[in-house]
Amino acid sequence: MKLFIIGGGIAGLSAAYYATKKLPDVQITLLESSNRWGGKITTDRVPFGGGQFIIEGGPDTFLATKPYATALCKELGLGERLHGTNPNKKNTYVLHRNRLLPLPDGLAMMIPTNVEAILKTQLVSWFGKARMGLDFLLPPHSPNGDESLGAFVSRRLGREAYENLIEPLMSGVYAGDGDALSLASTFPYLRDLELKYGSLARGALQMRKQNVQANGHLPLQGSRSAFLTPTMGLAEIVEALIENLKSKVNLRLNTSVSRISNINSRYLVELEDGSNLDADTVILATPAFISGSLLASFDPTLASALQSIPYASTATISLAYKQSDLPRELDGYGYIIPRREGRRALAATWTSTKFPHRAPEGCVLIRVFVGRAGEELPSPNGRGDRGEGDLLALAKEELNLTLGITAEPILSRVFMWDKAMPQYNLGHPEILKRIDAALEKHPGLALAGNGYRGIGIPDCIRSGELAVERVLKFSSSKVRTFECANL
Ligand SMILES: Cc1cc2nc3c(=O)[nH]c(=O)nc-3n(C[C@H](O)[C@H](O)[C@H](O)COP(=O)(O)OP(=O)(O)OC[C@H]3O[C@@H](n4cnc5c(N)ncnc54)[C@H](O)[C@@H]3O)c2cc1C
Repeated sequence: MKLFIIGGGIAGLSAAYYATKKLPDVQITLLESSNRWGGKITTDRVPFGGGQFIIEGGPDTFLATKPYATALCKELGLGERLHGTNPNKKNTYVLHRNRLLPLPDGLAMMIPTNVEAILKTQLVSWFGKARMGLDFLLPPHSPNGDESLGAFVSRRLGREAYENLIEPLMSGVYAGDGDALSLASTFPYLRDLELKYGSLARGALQMRKQNVQANGHLPLQGSRSAFLTPTMGLAEIVEALIENLKSKVNLRLNTSVSRISNINSRYLVELEDGSNLDADTVILATPAFISGSLLASFDPTLASALQSIPYASTATISLAYKQSDLPRELDGYGYIIPRREGRRALAATWTSTKFPHRAPEGCVLIRVFVGRAGEELPSPNGRGDRGEGDLLALAKEELNLTLGITAEPILSRVFMWDKAMPQYNLGHPEILKRIDAALEKHPGLALAGNGYRGIGIPDCIRSGELAVERVLKFSSSKVRTFECANL
């Protein structure tokens, strides 16, 4: 049996890892179009003044309450290298009318639960606070079918609380538009809280008190951080995976797949260089729109469902400064920017406070996020770059406006992620049903990656494992057919 996995991001690498464990007799090949492994995971380690900056270009942590990433790290021998965010300076701020105001204490599952903290916050007006209180009184509503995240939270807590507090937290995860995102596909447990406890705040509080499991999340023990990462950055996971796979899997970088077709119930994987590979089973761990284009001539129905999942483009701009050049202390993890503030940036992480070892002594590292659904990133501008210069200028302007930083950074890095964040918009559950129905006809074909049932690293890892289980079912049935034929 020959298995081809296409796409060497975390989903494809995880699929390869679980394939080596669950499919010992299968010949496995992993094909990646670019010249490096990891996809959206990339860490720059830059020596500087006797120390180093550790700069994440894409994700910087994973959620610890979903078990799959922690479990994989432990299996790879990285368990001891995982650490949480700085427990000593946990402030997060929200930009509100050009001022940074602290996020109120007591957010549980992103839902405000501390009445005193809400009464004190200046992020919501008194009218808005009174409207939030209605969450305790309003009966659960049963709309037919799905609701947008924005409509749901506004219905329970009021529009003001949604726009000033919840939208930047929740929509930010997807770089999405909360009024378009599907509640069922993004935060389904919120609906469960409403139905079970009659109020979001009461439900979130109960869940926290009982430390119970919600939607596949593990309870957090004690004060352990909800987010984890290896000491030297998330690329450690990619490096450990490659080390583990290199003797068991045919690993091919710079190998772009251009088409998948099906001949006599086998798959033909066509490469950009014109050569063909013959496979029994294929796992597509590429973004959904790319998987769709690869399958366009093979199954147009499946391809069109895959291509109907929209993706938003985003960018991160990391800037390092001398501590002495900063007009204020960076006493927290950073700040988030509600859409209604009208800024191009979404958030700024104060990386060297969140992870103190990620900048050398006397330096600070800040990471600005730009780009959300419905907005384009800058394009090539004739000045010899892809738009990085414009993004750098935009990030510097953001830090000047909000933090008053006028000094030039001592170092900067821009990472542009074109069509990187899948948007689980209203209708996403129906798209998934269409995809599943189409896949029924192709038992040797499986999909993995962030486009379907979870955008975070733990979900992508899980998607790789589930894709292998699908292939396992198929290969077992093929072996049985072969044995019967030989009886
Ligand atoms: C800026 C940013 C910040 C984020 N922050 C977090 C975070 O803090 N925590 C978190 O959990 N998640 C975060 N995410 C989300 C998470 O990083 C991604 O969802 C996840 O890494 C996607 O993994 P993947 O394997 O599905 O896809 P990708 O990483 O996109 O991998 C797909 C791979 O397929 C390859 N490929 C494409 N076409 C072809 C082809 N034709 N042939 C062969 N190979 C091909 C690509 O080169 C790529 O390497 C963030 C994402 C971004 C962009």
